[in-house]
Amino acid sequence: MEKIVSLCKRRGFIYPGSEIYGGLANTYDYGPMGTELLRNIKNLWWKYFVQKRSDMVGLDASLISHHKIWEASGHVAGFADAMIDCKNCKARMRADHLIENFIETNADVIARSTTIVGDEAISKKILSAVSKSKVEGLSVEELSLLVEKLKIPCPNCEKRNWTPVRKFNLLFPVQLGIVEGEGGMGYLRGETAQGIFINFRNVVDSTRVRLPFGIAQMGKSFRNEITPGNSVFRTIEFEQGEIEYFFDPDNASWNELFEKWKNTMWDFVTRELRVMATNLRWRVHTNEERSFYSERTEDLEYKFPFGFKELWGLAYRTNYDLTQHMNISKKDLTITDPHTGKKILPHVIEPAVGINRLLLMVLVDAYTEEEKRVVLKLHPRIAPYKVAVFPLLANKENLVEKAKEIYDDLKEHFMVVLDDRGNIGKRYLAQDEIGTPWCVTVDFDSLEDDMVTVRDRNTTQQERVPIKNLSNYFHNKLDS
Ligand code: ATP
Repeated sequence: MEKIVSLCKRRGFIYPGSEIYGGLANTYDYGPMGTELLRNIKNLWWKYFVQKRSDMVGLDASLISHHKIWEASGHVAGFADAMIDCKNCKARMRADHLIENFIETNADVIARSTTIVGDEAISKKILSAVSKSKVEGLSVEELSLLVEKLKIPCPNCEKRNWTPVRKFNLLFPVQLGIVEGEGGMGYLRGETAQGIFINFRNVVDSTRVRLPFGIAQMGKSFRNEITPGNSVFRTIEFEQGEIEYFFDPDNASWNELFEKWKNTMWDFVTRELRVMATNLRWRVHTNEERSFYSERTEDLEYKFPFGFKELWGLAYRTNYDLTQHMNISKKDLTITDPHTGKKILPHVIEPAVGINRLLLMVLVDAYTEEEKRVVLKLHPRIAPYKVAVFPLLANKENLVEKAKEIYDDLKEHFMVVLDDRGNIGKRYLAQDEIGTPWCVTVDFDSLEDDMVTVRDRNTTQQERVPIKNLSNYFHNKLDS
């Protein structure tokens, strides 16, 4: 992970947020390479889930929203994590993460836990959580008990001097209006999903959608999280790609839809992003951690350097959200079946992914150390630059001019970079580190035969290609 974080900073993918002012915890800025990579992932997601499907439409709701939305959705009352502070070194962390990491790195804890705490003191519920190493759903008292009984030390200073576990709400309130108290209070959205539910009626009334159909939204969400580092895996401001797929439970089986969505998500990660399937797995939520209104929730997890972690959640949320908004806003959110006249308040399946986690995943998956180089084997479709164009020598005007002509032509089609710094070997290494799939070199022969050398990033093989065929050549490669 350290090597990836350092490459990301050095090569312009990800910088710590507000760095020149000492940094702002859990925020990051994307540099020139990261911006391209993020944009490519977002475009691919949108193309796959919206453009190529006739049953999906898009939405772009505002980031600041009415406080009643978040009261109705249950976020104001219940969108909270449990935190704990070390009284000795003042480190603050998520209590669930502290316990889960401890269990994962101390395999004997599971065996020891019944004897340590005694069958009476610890309930079946806690033991089951320990054995699955998932403590979400336990009360703050149960979490405190676990920290105490398992004798968990502070990962920072190794002392065992904890505060009790407390809950904190993740929503960011926003004071609206110029004079405090005048305009009331809103919230920065804690998820993009609620924007979809509150616009459900608008979308139905203004488009030709028919059940089953989905509304997709991609954009920023904000959560006041305590996070343990791990780059952009968990940040207070992040981008989500969420879909609410609406259906009539009398006409469609949620189980079948759920399975279909599982396959679609898997396909996107393995075929569109070309991530190795061996690094992926499904994890079914336990009864304790699943929201009370959800019938089934599964996470697609990726094997990050810090363990298998949630990448993409898939939940059957019934019609809980629409019901809540209908009850509290007093607006009719039902739709009428055009054939039978039946009123339907649709149910939803929700696939929700963090785009920044997709980005971190592809970086981790692509990072390859070879004997003489580090290569980011990103799929060409998402690589920041598709092609780098080099004049063999920077001080030969006719080579530079020809390279510039090729660059000017290719940049109409792809993100391309022109590079004449250092020697060719160094330029190759620099492009390998940012994942550029092809490098084009203009040499003295090019001036005679109008051909250039194209070097493949993964194989380092080179071939001569006529200059006039270059854009077709790369188009074909990108489509394959
Ligand atoms: P986690 O358990 O990791 O906190 P979650 O279950 O709260 O995630 P959801 O509310 O289901 O997450 O959000 C959907 C997706 O949004 C997650 O699968 C994850 O990819 C992404 N996500 C959630 N919180 C963050 C965050 N703080 N930073 C980056 N991505 C996030």
